Amino acid sequence: MKSAVVMLPSLGIGHLISMVELGELILTHDPSLSITILLTPAHYETKSNANYIKTVSYTTPSITFHPLPALPQPPDTSTPYFDLIFQTSKLYKPIVRDTLRTISEKSTIKAGILDFLSNDAFEVCTSLNIPTYYLFTGSAFGLDFLLYMRTIHENVSESFKDLRTYIEAPGTPPIYSLDMPMTMYDRNSNSYINLLSVSENMAKSSGIFVNTFAELEPRVIKALADGECIPDGPTPPTYYVGPLIRDSSDDNNGDKCLKWLSLQPCKSVVVLIFGSIGKFKKDQLEEMAKGLEKSGQRFLWVVRSPPPENEKGHESALKEPDLDDLLPAGFLNRNKEKGLVVKNWAPQGEILRHKSVGGFVCHCGWNSILEAMRAGVPLVAWPLYAEQKMNRVYLVEGIKVALPLKMREDGFVTAEELAERLRELMEEESGKKLREHVSAISESAAAAATEGGSSRVAVVEFVESLKSVRV
Ligand code: UDP
Repeated sequence: MKSAVVMLPSLGIGHLISMVELGELILTHDPSLSITILLTPAHYETKSNANYIKTVSYTTPSITFHPLPALPQPPDTSTPYFDLIFQTSKLYKPIVRDTLRTISEKSTIKAGILDFLSNDAFEVCTSLNIPTYYLFTGSAFGLDFLLYMRTIHENVSESFKDLRTYIEAPGTPPIYSLDMPMTMYDRNSNSYINLLSVSENMAKSSGIFVNTFAELEPRVIKALADGECIPDGPTPPTYYVGPLIRDSSDDNNGDKCLKWLSLQPCKSVVVLIFGSIGKFKKDQLEEMAKGLEKSGQRFLWVVRSPPPENEKGHESALKEPDLDDLLPAGFLNRNKEKGLVVKNWAPQGEILRHKSVGGFVCHCGWNSILEAMRAGVPLVAWPLYAEQKMNRVYLVEGIKVALPLKMREDGFVTAEELAERLRELMEEESGKKLREHVSAISESAAAAATEGGSSRVAVVEFVESLKSVRV
């Protein structure tokens, strides 16, 4: 029987891309394996996901996308998005079980690889005696905190939202409790309890893949290897296989941006893009426009309509923004030489690698950070949601690749602050130092991903380890 690896990615495009890229890498090192990726109908709902799946089906036919049926009883869609993901994963358990049984009639499943948000499949896979691995789509730093969560839970009785103090996990800079992800704020919430369960299961898993590369996070990776993060045993085998990134197959505004960039001087442009769902209210958009103008820097800015009141926090169809209404009067005309504003989406990966780009105002999403590191572009950190506030601390104090923006408690950033940080990044000595450091990181990112590099070696180790697995 053929040996198979079955993968269960979570919903967002970043989660899907890293899982599929991992599948492709595994196949590169052992083409005899079959890779099957289980997808729910929700995976096909967003345009970016659907395009990506179509592209991979065409370019890598050896990867099989296996569509799961819709749930007989759909989950309650009024549930907060993060909880909904876990709820959906729970409801899918019987379907996943049947599907794995069917696959195992024709192949030997040597490994199940779960996104950490597909955690409920852990029990299904292990009960079928399938060696079960996780893919952590964030940093080693984020993984370190997630694994250390049980120790914190045992030793601290208050919720992060009430704690108002600094928390340190092994090998990490101290993080203020209110900078922890909001999903962890309240120890009695569903999201916290779900994450605690991920933390427990991961510690018992056969191994953890992480979307980072060894040279980027040596201190945290050492702490993980020393087993300091898990209370009751060593860290399972950990494979640092990143950067698992791929340019989006959505070519929205691509030609326009690249043509404009090619007319700009080398490393002169600051890019402002805020992830797949980042949006700002109108007053903040106006303030950003003023800040950009004040800074005197060239810029490429992706602008979206402000979020509707009932926004659920996941990628939904993007409304066409009315730039004349959203930005200050005359802004577009006054800045038509120095700046390019595009609506909703631009090919970020390709843009960051363009020689005219010299800085990136980033929402601190991990894929965007990896794309910037690969391209050698230093950052101004403007966190918006999820684990991005703690990423900001790590980027500034840990791996030292970003300048922090001062934000009001409600997250508002003034025009003066934005202008000041952009000037610092693009013109001052501190910005120059960051650029040099990120440029060295970019070289190690490229080396890690080539034959014999650390990330490739990690994949080889995993593939070799499968040979001794008896199922
Ligand atoms: N992205 C893009 N163009 C845009 C906005 C986002 O190509 O206009 C891509 C970006 O390159 C990255 C992903 O969307 O690969 C966002 O992932 P990240 O983890 O940074 O943030 P998230 O969207 O998960 O918050």
